[in-house]
Amino acid sequence: MAFQDWMKQANLIGGEWVGADSGETIDVTNPVDGSVIGTIPKGGKAETERAISAATEAFPGFRDMSLMDRCNLLWRLHDALMDNQKELAELLTVEMGKPMAESMGEIAIGAQYVRWFAEEARRAKGEIVPAGVNGRRILVTKHAIGVVGMITPWNFPSSMLARKVAPALAMGCTVVAKPATATPYSGLAWGALCEEAGYPKGVMNVVTGSAKDISKAMMESFAVRKITFTGSTEVGKELMRGAADTVKKVSMELGGNAPFVVFDDADIDKAIDGAMVSKFRNAGQTCVCANRIYVQAGIHDAFVAKLKARTEAMKVGDGREDGVEQGPMIDMDAVEKVEDFVADAKAKGGEIVTGGDRHEKGGTFFQPTIITGATQDMKFAHEEIFGPIAPVFKFETEEEAIRLANDTVYGLACYAYTSDLGRAFRLNEGLQYGMIGINSGLITTVEAPFGGVKESGLGKEGGSQGLEDYVETKYVCIDGI
Ligand code: ADP
Repeated sequence: MAFQDWMKQANLIGGEWVGADSGETIDVTNPVDGSVIGTIPKGGKAETERAISAATEAFPGFRDMSLMDRCNLLWRLHDALMDNQKELAELLTVEMGKPMAESMGEIAIGAQYVRWFAEEARRAKGEIVPAGVNGRRILVTKHAIGVVGMITPWNFPSSMLARKVAPALAMGCTVVAKPATATPYSGLAWGALCEEAGYPKGVMNVVTGSAKDISKAMMESFAVRKITFTGSTEVGKELMRGAADTVKKVSMELGGNAPFVVFDDADIDKAIDGAMVSKFRNAGQTCVCANRIYVQAGIHDAFVAKLKARTEAMKVGDGREDGVEQGPMIDMDAVEKVEDFVADAKAKGGEIVTGGDRHEKGGTFFQPTIITGATQDMKFAHEEIFGPIAPVFKFETEEEAIRLANDTVYGLACYAYTSDLGRAFRLNEGLQYGMIGINSGLITTVEAPFGGVKESGLGKEGGSQGLEDYVETKYVCIDGI
Protein backbone atom coordinates (compact mmCIF):
# COMPACT_ATOMS: atom_id res chain seq x y z
CA MET A 1 0.00 0.00 0.00
CA ALA A 2 1.02 3.60 -0.55
CA PHE A 3 -0.28 6.69 1.24
CA GLN A 4 -2.37 7.48 -1.85
CA ASP A 5 -4.45 4.38 -1.16
CA TRP A 6 -5.75 6.08 2.00
CA MET A 7 -6.22 9.46 0.36
CA LYS A 8 -9.98 9.52 -0.16
CA GLN A 9 -11.01 12.42 -2.35
CA ALA A 10 -14.71 11.97 -1.54
CA ASN A 11 -17.03 12.17 1.46
CA LEU A 12 -18.37 9.15 3.31
CA ILE A 13 -22.13 9.45 3.76
CA GLY A 14 -24.27 6.46 4.69
CA GLY A 15 -21.59 4.04 3.54
CA GLU A 16 -21.10 5.63 0.10
CA TRP A 17 -18.12 7.66 -1.06
CA VAL A 18 -19.63 10.68 -2.78
CA GLY A 19 -18.82 14.14 -4.11
CA ALA A 20 -20.62 17.39 -3.29
CA ASP A 21 -24.06 17.86 -4.86
CA SER A 22 -22.68 20.82 -6.79
CA GLY A 23 -19.71 18.82 -8.02
CA GLU A 24 -17.48 21.57 -6.61
CA THR A 25 -14.14 20.71 -5.07
CA ILE A 26 -11.44 22.37 -2.95
CA ASP A 27 -7.72 21.92 -3.65
CA VAL A 28 -5.57 20.49 -0.88
CA THR A 29 -1.90 21.48 -0.79
CA ASN A 30 1.34 20.26 0.71
CA PRO A 31 2.64 23.06 2.98
CA VAL A 32 6.24 22.18 2.07
CA ASP A 33 5.91 23.79 -1.36
CA GLY A 34 2.27 24.69 -1.86
CA SER A 35 1.81 21.99 -4.52
CA VAL A 36 -1.69 20.59 -4.96
CA ILE A 37 -1.91 16.99 -3.75
CA GLY A 38 -5.58 16.40 -4.48
CA THR A 39 -9.09 17.73 -4.07
CA ILE A 40 -11.98 17.24 -1.67
CA PRO A 41 -15.71 17.82 -2.11
CA LYS A 42 -16.97 21.26 -1.20
CA GLY A 43 -19.88 20.00 0.84
CA GLY A 44 -22.33 22.09 2.86
CA LYS A 45 -25.82 21.99 4.33
CA ALA A 46 -27.44 19.32 2.12
CA GLU A 47 -24.54 16.87 2.39
CA THR A 48 -24.34 17.33 6.16
CA GLU A 49 -28.07 16.80 6.57
CA ARG A 50 -27.81 13.55 4.62
CA ALA A 51 -24.90 12.45 6.79
CA ILE A 52 -26.91 13.25 9.92
CA SER A 53 -29.86 11.24 8.56
CA ALA A 54 -27.58 8.29 7.85
CA ALA A 55 -26.09 8.50 11.34
CA THR A 56 -29.57 8.80 12.87
CA GLU A 57 -30.78 5.73 11.00
CA ALA A 58 -27.71 3.72 11.93
CA PHE A 59 -27.87 4.68 15.60
CA PRO A 60 -30.45 2.25 17.10
CA GLY A 61 -28.86 -0.80 15.50
CA PHE A 62 -25.37 0.21 16.50
CA ARG A 63 -26.38 1.17 20.04
CA ASP A 64 -27.99 -2.23 20.49
CA MET A 65 -25.03 -4.18 19.14
CA SER A 66 -23.58 -6.34 21.91
CA LEU A 67 -20.83 -4.77 23.92
CA MET A 68 -18.34 -7.45 22.88
CA ASP A 69 -19.14 -6.93 19.20
CA ARG A 70 -18.55 -3.20 19.64
CA CYS A 71 -15.27 -3.84 21.44
CA ASN A 72 -14.14 -6.26 18.75
CA LEU A 73 -14.80 -3.65 16.09
CA LEU A 74 -12.62 -1.22 18.02
CA TRP A 75 -9.82 -3.77 18.18
CA ARG A 76 -10.07 -4.19 14.42
CA LEU A 77 -9.97 -0.42 14.01
CA HIS A 78 -6.85 -0.33 16.19
CA ASP A 79 -5.22 -2.99 14.02
CA ALA A 80 -6.21 -1.20 10.81
CA LEU A 81 -4.43 1.92 12.10
CA MET A 82 -1.28 0.10 13.17
CA ASP A 83 -1.11 -2.16 10.10
CA ASN A 84 -1.11 0.97 7.95
CA GLN A 85 0.78 3.24 10.31
CA LYS A 86 3.48 4.24 7.86
CA GLU A 87 1.12 5.05 4.98
CA LEU A 88 -1.24 6.99 7.24
CA ALA A 89 1.73 8.86 8.73
CA GLU A 90 3.02 9.78 5.31
CA LEU A 91 -0.41 11.04 4.29
CA LEU A 92 -0.45 13.14 7.45
CA THR A 93 3.00 14.60 6.74
CA VAL A 94 2.16 15.32 3.12
CA GLU A 95 -0.96 17.32 3.98
CA MET A 96 0.22 18.87 7.24
CA GLY A 97 4.01 19.15 7.13
CA LYS A 98 5.06 17.67 10.46
CA PRO A 99 8.13 15.39 10.57
CA MET A 100 7.49 11.70 9.83
CA ALA A 101 8.57 10.69 13.34
CA GLU A 102 5.83 12.89 14.78
CA SER A 103 3.27 11.58 12.28
CA MET A 104 4.16 7.98 13.15
CA GLY A 105 3.66 8.91 16.80
CA GLU A 106 0.34 10.56 16.06
CA ILE A 107 -1.06 7.49 14.29
CA ALA A 108 0.21 5.30 17.15
CA ILE A 109 -1.38 7.41 19.86
CA GLY A 110 -4.62 7.46 17.86
CA ALA A 111 -4.54 3.67 17.86
CA GLN A 112 -3.83 3.77 21.59
CA TYR A 113 -6.98 5.82 22.16
CA VAL A 114 -8.99 3.27 20.21
CA ARG A 115 -7.54 0.46 22.32
CA TRP A 116 -8.06 2.39 25.55
CA PHE A 117 -11.73 3.00 24.84
CA ALA A 118 -12.24 -0.62 23.73
CA GLU A 119 -11.14 -1.42 27.27
CA GLU A 120 -13.02 1.41 29.01
CA ALA A 121 -16.32 0.57 27.27
CA ARG A 122 -16.42 -2.58 29.39
CA ARG A 123 -16.31 -0.45 32.52
CA ALA A 124 -19.09 2.01 31.66
CA LYS A 125 -20.72 1.00 34.90
CA GLY A 126 -23.89 2.30 36.46
CA GLU A 127 -24.73 2.46 40.17
CA ILE A 128 -27.27 1.24 42.66
CA VAL A 129 -27.70 4.03 45.16
CA PRO A 130 -29.20 3.57 48.65
CA ALA A 131 -32.67 5.11 48.73
CA GLY A 132 -33.75 7.36 51.59
CA VAL A 133 -36.97 5.48 52.18
CA ASN A 134 -37.84 1.79 52.33
CA GLY A 135 -39.47 0.05 49.38
CA ARG A 136 -37.56 2.02 46.78
CA ARG A 137 -34.63 1.10 44.58
CA ILE A 138 -32.54 3.68 42.78
CA LEU A 139 -30.60 2.68 39.69
CA VAL A 140 -28.27 4.92 37.70
CA THR A 141 -27.51 3.71 34.17
CA LYS A 142 -25.42 4.96 31.27
CA HIS A 143 -26.45 5.14 27.64
CA ALA A 144 -25.03 6.26 24.32
CA ILE A 145 -25.88 9.90 23.75
CA GLY A 146 -26.82 9.50 20.07
CA VAL A 147 -25.47 11.18 16.93
CA VAL A 148 -22.28 13.11 17.61
CA GLY A 149 -21.02 16.00 15.46
CA MET A 150 -17.24 16.36 15.45
CA ILE A 151 -15.22 19.32 14.18
CA THR A 152 -11.45 18.99 14.26
CA PRO A 153 -8.38 21.13 13.50
CA TRP A 154 -5.39 20.77 11.20
CA ASN A 155 -2.58 20.49 13.75
CA PHE A 156 -3.35 16.88 14.76
CA PRO A 157 -5.62 15.85 11.92
CA SER A 158 -5.67 12.19 12.89
CA SER A 159 -5.35 11.98 16.68
CA MET A 160 -7.84 14.77 17.42
CA LEU A 161 -10.44 12.60 15.71
CA ALA A 162 -9.18 9.49 17.49
CA ARG A 163 -9.98 11.00 20.89
CA LYS A 164 -13.54 11.67 19.79
CA VAL A 165 -14.29 8.78 17.45
CA ALA A 166 -13.00 6.09 19.82
CA PRO A 167 -15.17 6.91 22.87
CA ALA A 168 -18.17 7.65 20.64
CA LEU A 169 -17.95 4.27 18.89
CA ALA A 170 -17.16 2.56 22.18
CA MET A 171 -20.43 3.77 23.69
CA GLY A 172 -22.51 3.02 20.56
CA CYS A 173 -22.84 6.57 19.25
CA THR A 174 -22.81 7.32 15.53
CA VAL A 175 -20.67 10.04 13.99
CA VAL A 176 -20.70 12.94 11.56
CA ALA A 177 -17.16 14.32 11.39
CA LYS A 178 -15.85 17.44 9.69
CA PRO A 179 -12.07 17.56 9.44
CA ALA A 180 -10.16 20.80 8.86
CA THR A 181 -10.08 21.89 5.22
CA ALA A 182 -6.29 22.26 5.24
CA THR A 183 -5.78 18.63 6.32
CA PRO A 184 -8.87 16.63 5.34
CA TYR A 185 -7.32 13.37 4.21
CA SER A 186 -6.33 12.09 7.64
CA GLY A 187 -9.93 12.69 8.71
CA LEU A 188 -11.40 11.03 5.62
CA ALA A 189 -9.04 8.13 6.27
CA TRP A 190 -10.97 7.47 9.49
CA GLY A 191 -13.96 6.75 7.28
CA ALA A 192 -11.93 4.27 5.24
CA LEU A 193 -10.47 2.72 8.39
CA CYS A 194 -13.96 2.21 9.85
CA GLU A 195 -14.99 0.51 6.62
CA GLU A 196 -11.92 -1.70 6.79
CA ALA A 197 -12.73 -2.62 10.39
CA GLY A 198 -16.28 -3.59 9.38
CA TYR A 199 -18.48 -0.91 10.95
CA PRO A 200 -22.07 -0.90 9.68
CA LYS A 201 -22.93 1.68 7.03
CA GLY A 202 -23.88 5.09 8.43
CA VAL A 203 -22.06 4.68 11.74
CA MET A 204 -19.11 6.79 10.59
CA ASN A 205 -19.73 9.69 8.21
CA VAL A 206 -17.18 12.27 7.10
CA VAL A 207 -18.09 15.52 5.38
CA THR A 208 -15.70 18.16 4.01
CA GLY A 209 -16.26 21.68 2.74
CA SER A 210 -17.59 24.91 4.18
CA ALA A 211 -16.95 24.98 7.94
CA LYS A 212 -19.74 27.50 8.47
CA ASP A 213 -22.40 25.60 6.48
CA ILE A 214 -21.49 22.18 7.85
CA SER A 215 -21.39 23.35 11.46
CA LYS A 216 -24.66 25.28 11.01
CA ALA A 217 -26.39 22.13 9.75
CA MET A 218 -25.03 20.22 12.74
CA MET A 219 -26.16 22.92 15.17
CA GLU A 220 -29.66 23.19 13.72
CA SER A 221 -30.23 19.44 13.80
CA PHE A 222 -32.08 18.17 16.83
CA ALA A 223 -30.85 14.65 16.04
CA VAL A 224 -27.26 15.67 16.76
CA ARG A 225 -27.18 15.38 20.55
CA LYS A 226 -23.58 16.26 21.07
CA ILE A 227 -20.96 18.53 19.50
CA THR A 228 -17.31 17.95 20.16
CA PHE A 229 -14.85 20.51 18.88
CA THR A 230 -11.11 21.06 18.97
CA GLY A 231 -9.90 24.41 17.70
CA SER A 232 -9.75 28.07 18.54
CA THR A 233 -11.54 29.59 21.54
CA GLU A 234 -13.24 32.08 19.23
CA VAL A 235 -14.91 29.38 17.09
CA GLY A 236 -15.60 27.28 20.19
CA LYS A 237 -17.63 30.10 21.72
CA GLU A 238 -19.62 30.43 18.50
CA LEU A 239 -20.36 26.71 18.51
CA MET A 240 -21.45 26.80 22.15
CA ARG A 241 -23.91 29.55 21.29
CA GLY A 242 -25.16 27.48 18.34
CA ALA A 243 -25.54 24.36 20.47
CA ALA A 244 -27.78 26.23 22.91
CA ASP A 245 -30.79 26.24 20.58
CA THR A 246 -31.18 22.47 20.72
CA VAL A 247 -29.42 22.07 24.12
CA LYS A 248 -26.71 19.78 22.86
CA LYS A 249 -24.05 18.43 25.12
CA VAL A 250 -20.73 20.12 24.21
CA SER A 251 -17.07 19.25 24.58
CA MET A 252 -14.62 21.99 23.75
CA GLU A 253 -10.86 21.63 23.49
CA LEU A 254 -9.85 25.21 22.87
CA GLY A 255 -6.77 27.41 22.88
CA GLY A 256 -3.99 27.44 25.43
CA ASN A 257 -1.21 29.72 26.62
CA ALA A 258 1.01 27.28 28.47
CA PRO A 259 3.54 28.60 30.97
CA PHE A 260 6.73 26.57 31.31
CA VAL A 261 8.30 27.44 34.66
CA VAL A 262 11.87 26.50 35.53
CA PHE A 263 12.97 26.97 39.14
CA ASP A 264 16.54 27.37 40.37
CA ASP A 265 16.41 23.90 41.90
CA ALA A 266 15.47 22.17 38.62
CA ASP A 267 17.55 19.62 36.75
CA ILE A 268 18.48 22.04 34.00
CA ASP A 269 19.22 19.44 31.32
CA LYS A 270 15.87 17.76 31.87
CA ALA A 271 14.22 21.17 31.74
CA ILE A 272 15.92 21.87 28.40
CA ASP A 273 14.74 18.50 27.01
CA GLY A 274 11.22 19.31 28.18
CA ALA A 275 11.30 22.82 26.78
CA MET A 276 12.48 21.61 23.37
CA VAL A 277 9.73 19.03 22.99
CA SER A 278 7.06 21.20 24.52
CA LYS A 279 7.97 24.27 22.47
CA PHE A 280 9.09 23.00 19.08
CA ARG A 281 7.00 19.88 18.57
CA ASN A 282 4.84 20.32 15.47
CA ALA A 283 6.70 23.62 14.80
CA GLY A 284 5.07 25.02 17.92
CA GLN A 285 1.60 24.41 16.50
CA THR A 286 -0.06 22.58 19.37
CA CYS A 287 -2.48 23.89 21.96
CA VAL A 288 -0.24 22.55 24.75
CA CYS A 289 3.02 24.03 23.43
CA ALA A 290 5.03 26.10 25.90
CA ASN A 291 3.93 29.65 25.13
CA ARG A 292 5.78 31.48 27.91
CA ILE A 293 8.98 30.15 29.42
CA TYR A 294 9.53 31.58 32.92
CA VAL A 295 13.04 30.97 34.28
CA GLN A 296 14.14 31.83 37.82
CA ALA A 297 16.90 34.44 37.94
CA GLY A 298 19.58 32.12 39.38
CA ILE A 299 19.67 29.81 36.35
CA HIS A 300 18.30 32.13 33.69
CA ASP A 301 21.52 32.72 31.76
CA ALA A 302 22.67 29.09 31.89
CA PHE A 303 19.23 27.94 30.72
CA VAL A 304 19.18 30.38 27.80
CA ALA A 305 22.69 29.36 26.68
CA LYS A 306 21.73 25.69 26.60
CA LEU A 307 18.40 26.35 24.93
CA LYS A 308 20.18 28.40 22.26
CA ALA A 309 22.64 25.60 21.48
CA ARG A 310 19.84 23.03 21.15
CA THR A 311 17.61 25.30 19.12
CA GLU A 312 20.36 26.18 16.66
CA ALA A 313 21.09 22.48 16.14
CA MET A 314 17.54 21.73 15.00
CA LYS A 315 17.11 20.40 11.47
CA VAL A 316 14.39 22.24 9.57
CA GLY A 317 12.98 20.85 6.33
CA ASP A 318 10.52 18.59 4.54
CA GLY A 319 8.99 16.32 7.16
CA ARG A 320 9.59 13.33 4.91
CA GLU A 321 13.39 13.78 5.01
CA ASP A 322 15.37 11.81 7.57
CA GLY A 323 16.17 13.58 10.81
CA VAL A 324 13.99 16.63 10.21
CA GLU A 325 12.74 18.03 13.52
CA GLN A 326 10.73 20.99 12.30
CA GLY A 327 8.63 21.18 9.15
CA PRO A 328 6.92 24.16 7.53
CA MET A 329 4.16 26.12 9.18
CA ILE A 330 0.67 25.32 7.98
CA ASP A 331 0.18 28.43 5.81
CA MET A 332 1.29 32.01 5.18
CA ASP A 333 -1.21 33.46 7.66
CA ALA A 334 0.49 31.45 10.38
CA VAL A 335 3.89 32.81 9.31
CA GLU A 336 2.63 36.38 9.34
CA LYS A 337 1.13 35.93 12.78
CA VAL A 338 4.45 34.68 14.10
CA GLU A 339 6.27 37.62 12.47
CA ASP A 340 3.87 39.96 14.20
CA PHE A 341 4.71 38.40 17.61
CA VAL A 342 8.42 38.88 16.91
CA ALA A 343 8.00 42.51 15.79
CA ASP A 344 5.86 43.31 18.82
CA ALA A 345 8.41 41.78 21.20
CA LYS A 346 11.31 43.62 19.55
CA ALA A 347 9.47 46.93 19.72
CA LYS A 348 8.94 46.41 23.45
CA GLY A 349 12.57 45.61 24.25
CA GLY A 350 12.78 41.85 23.64
CA GLU A 351 16.11 40.49 22.45
CA ILE A 352 16.35 37.89 19.67
CA VAL A 353 18.83 35.26 20.85
CA THR A 354 18.45 33.12 17.75
CA GLY A 355 16.13 32.99 14.74
CA GLY A 356 13.46 35.64 14.41
CA ASP A 357 12.96 35.45 10.64
CA ARG A 358 11.55 33.36 7.85
CA HIS A 359 13.78 30.39 7.13
CA GLU A 360 16.09 30.34 4.12
CA LYS A 361 14.13 27.34 2.82
CA GLY A 362 11.43 29.81 1.86
CA GLY A 363 7.70 29.13 1.66
CA THR A 364 6.15 28.81 5.09
CA PHE A 365 9.33 27.70 6.86
CA PHE A 366 10.22 29.78 9.93
CA GLN A 367 13.40 29.76 12.01
CA PRO A 368 13.25 28.25 15.49
CA THR A 369 13.42 31.40 17.60
CA ILE A 370 14.32 32.42 21.15
CA ILE A 371 13.46 35.84 22.56
CA THR A 372 14.74 36.93 25.98
CA GLY A 373 13.69 39.89 28.07
CA ALA A 374 10.06 38.92 27.51
CA THR A 375 7.52 40.90 29.53
CA GLN A 376 3.82 40.66 30.34
CA ASP A 377 2.96 43.54 28.02
CA MET A 378 4.13 41.65 24.95
CA LYS A 379 1.44 40.05 22.79
CA PHE A 380 2.56 36.48 23.38
CA ALA A 381 2.06 36.89 27.11
CA HIS A 382 -1.68 36.83 26.43
CA GLU A 383 -2.15 35.23 23.01
CA GLU A 384 -1.40 31.76 21.72
CA ILE A 385 1.74 31.83 19.52
CA PHE A 386 1.16 28.62 17.56
CA GLY A 387 4.64 28.82 16.07
CA PRO A 388 8.31 28.11 16.81
CA ILE A 389 9.01 31.09 19.07
CA ALA A 390 10.26 30.58 22.60
CA PRO A 391 9.88 33.73 24.71
CA VAL A 392 11.91 33.62 27.93
CA PHE A 393 10.75 35.65 30.95
CA LYS A 394 12.86 36.07 34.12
CA PHE A 395 11.27 35.76 37.58
CA GLU A 396 12.45 35.87 41.21
CA THR A 397 10.01 34.04 43.53
CA GLU A 398 7.59 31.10 43.50
CA GLU A 399 4.67 33.36 44.36
CA GLU A 400 5.53 35.61 41.42
CA ALA A 401 5.83 32.62 39.06
CA ILE A 402 2.38 31.31 40.00
CA ARG A 403 0.82 34.73 39.66
CA LEU A 404 2.35 35.32 36.22
CA ALA A 405 1.55 31.80 35.04
CA ASN A 406 -2.12 32.31 35.91
CA ASP A 407 -2.30 35.73 34.26
CA THR A 408 -4.30 34.54 31.23
CA VAL A 409 -7.85 33.60 30.31
CA TYR A 410 -6.54 30.21 29.19
CA GLY A 411 -6.05 27.16 31.38
CA LEU A 412 -5.07 24.14 29.30
CA ALA A 413 -1.56 22.80 30.02
CA CYS A 414 1.30 24.15 32.11
CA TYR A 415 4.72 22.81 33.01
CA ALA A 416 7.09 23.30 35.93
CA TYR A 417 10.57 21.99 36.64
CA THR A 418 11.62 21.70 40.28
CA SER A 419 13.21 19.16 42.63
CA ASP A 420 11.23 20.39 45.65
CA LEU A 421 8.32 18.03 46.35
CA GLY A 422 6.50 20.54 48.53
CA ARG A 423 6.70 23.08 45.74
CA ALA A 424 5.29 20.54 43.27
CA PHE A 425 2.22 20.19 45.50
CA ARG A 426 1.90 23.95 45.92
CA LEU A 427 2.07 24.34 42.14
CA ASN A 428 -0.64 21.75 41.65
CA GLU A 429 -2.84 23.70 44.05
CA GLY A 430 -1.95 27.15 42.75
CA LEU A 431 -1.82 26.76 38.98
CA GLN A 432 -5.20 27.19 37.29
CA TYR A 433 -4.71 24.61 34.55
CA GLY A 434 -6.43 21.42 33.53
CA MET A 435 -3.10 19.64 33.03
CA ILE A 436 0.17 20.11 34.88
CA GLY A 437 3.49 18.57 33.87
CA ILE A 438 5.95 18.51 36.75
CA ASN A 439 9.41 17.75 35.34
CA SER A 440 7.81 16.70 32.04
CA GLY A 441 7.18 18.61 28.84
CA LEU A 442 5.13 15.92 27.14
CA ILE A 443 2.12 14.82 29.14
CA THR A 444 -0.58 13.70 26.70
CA THR A 445 -1.42 10.06 27.30
CA VAL A 446 -4.53 7.96 26.77
CA GLU A 447 -4.91 7.02 30.43
CA ALA A 448 -5.28 10.62 31.61
CA PRO A 449 -8.07 13.16 31.10
CA PHE A 450 -6.90 15.78 28.60
CA GLY A 451 -8.75 19.08 28.85
CA GLY A 452 -8.67 22.65 30.00
CA VAL A 453 -10.26 25.03 32.47
CA LYS A 454 -11.24 28.70 32.06
CA GLU A 455 -11.50 29.64 28.36
CA SER A 456 -9.53 26.56 27.30
CA GLY A 457 -12.61 24.44 27.26
CA LEU A 458 -15.09 22.00 28.68
CA GLY A 459 -14.96 18.23 28.96
CA LYS A 460 -12.15 15.70 28.95
CA GLU A 461 -10.64 13.45 26.31
CA GLY A 462 -8.93 10.24 27.37
CA GLY A 463 -8.95 8.64 30.79
CA SER A 464 -12.12 7.13 32.20
CA GLN A 465 -13.55 10.67 32.09
CA GLY A 466 -13.28 10.64 28.28
CA LEU A 467 -16.18 8.22 28.03
CA GLU A 468 -18.50 10.38 30.13
CA ASP A 469 -18.74 12.97 27.38
CA TYR A 470 -20.50 10.43 25.14
CA VAL A 471 -22.84 9.17 27.78
CA GLU A 472 -26.33 10.10 28.86
CA THR A 473 -26.97 9.24 32.50
CA LYS A 474 -30.45 7.98 33.42
CA TYR A 475 -31.91 7.34 36.82
CA VAL A 476 -34.63 4.80 37.43
CA CYS A 477 -36.69 4.86 40.61
CA ILE A 478 -38.47 1.59 41.29
CA ASP A 479 -41.04 2.07 44.00
CA GLY A 480 -43.17 -0.33 46.03
CA ILE A 481 -40.71 -3.24 46.09
P1 ADP B 1 -7.40 26.30 14.12
O1 ADP B 1 -6.75 27.57 14.57
O2 ADP B 1 -6.92 25.09 14.84
O3 ADP B 1 -7.55 26.16 12.64
P2 ADP B 1 -10.19 26.84 14.03
O4 ADP B 1 -11.09 27.06 15.18
O5 ADP B 1 -10.02 27.96 13.07
O6 ADP B 1 -8.82 26.44 14.71
O7 ADP B 1 -10.57 25.55 13.20
C1 ADP B 1 -10.84 24.31 13.79
C2 ADP B 1 -11.93 23.62 13.00
O8 ADP B 1 -13.09 24.43 13.05
C3 ADP B 1 -11.63 23.42 11.53
O9 ADP B 1 -12.23 22.19 11.13
C4 ADP B 1 -12.31 24.58 10.88
O10 ADP B 1 -12.66 24.32 9.54
C5 ADP B 1 -13.54 24.73 11.75
N1 ADP B 1 -14.11 26.07 11.75
C6 ADP B 1 -13.50 27.24 11.47
N2 ADP B 1 -14.36 28.26 11.56
C7 ADP B 1 -15.55 27.75 11.90
C8 ADP B 1 -16.85 28.28 12.15
N3 ADP B 1 -17.10 29.57 12.09
N4 ADP B 1 -17.83 27.42 12.50
C9 ADP B 1 -17.57 26.11 12.60
N5 ADP B 1 -16.40 25.54 12.38
C10 ADP B 1 -15.38 26.34 12.03
